[in-house]
Formats: sequence, structure tokens, C-alpha cells
Amino acid sequence: MSGGPDIYHEMIVDYSRNPINYGEIENHDVTFHDSNPLCGDSIDIDMKIDDNKVTDIKFHGKGCAICMACTSVLTEITKGKSLDDVRKIEKNDVLSELGLEHLQAVRIKCALLSLKVLKSALYTYLGSNLDDKTGIDTLKTDAENLY
Ligand SMILES: [Zn+2]
Repeated sequence: MSGGPDIYHEMIVDYSRNPINYGEIENHDVTFHDSNPLCGDSIDIDMKIDDNKVTDIKFHGKGCAICMACTSVLTEITKGKSLDDVRKIEKNDVLSELGLEHLQAVRIKCALLSLKVLKSALYTYLGSNLDDKTGIDTLKTDAENLY
């Protein structure tokens, strides 16, 4: 048995059995849902936002191991970040944590569904809370062009 990929495989299995930040935030400031019908992944992300910072984030729903693992990692990356920094999260920030940079095209939707939901949630939040909405369209485009 060789090293690398097996470690990532174990991490993915662990996260799928014990997802991080799993649950709901009752008094969330924004929530968003999306799904990946090809695989059956279906994710909601709730966020609490104070002072332009993500003070809490939780997700719920169901998904395959890759989807659950990537959503766990993404919520960990996002928690505590400013909204500006959340906007800058890119797909490889999530994929590299789990060694998934070279994932086959058919599974990439599983891996990036949560990032799409996160960016859409942020777009929704900024759209209803910003007076000056200049520039938020790029978020929507980012979300739409992830995969
Ligand atoms: Zn999946």
C-alpha cells in the first residue's frame, strides 16, 4: 500500500460519517439550497453574519461521501472569515484539502456543490443588505461558472 491517496480517501470517509458543522442555524441571516440531481446531493447552508463576518455556518442535507467531505471542509474554511475573504474562496482551496484537484468531471459537481451554494448564499445576502450593489454580479457569475 502506498501513502498519499489513501490518506485522502480516509479523510473523505471520516468526514462523510462525521460531517463538521452539520446542523441548522435557527436565526440565520441567510440560507441557500441547491442540489446535484445527477448524484442526489442536496445541501442547505445557513450562515450567521455579523459585522461583515461569517460568525457561524452550518449545513444540512444529504450527499455522497465527496459532497459531505467537501462541504465539511468548506464550512471550516469559511467560518470566521470576512465576507470579502469568503468571496475569494476558490475551488482549489476546497479540492486541495482533500487531494481532489484531479477529480473526474462527473464527480466535480459533488465536490463543488457546496461552494456554489455558499457563493449563491452570499450573493443573496449582499443583494438584500447592500445599498451599493456594484460588483456583486461577479459572485453570481462565479457561482454559475464553477462547473
Ligand atoms: Zn455526489
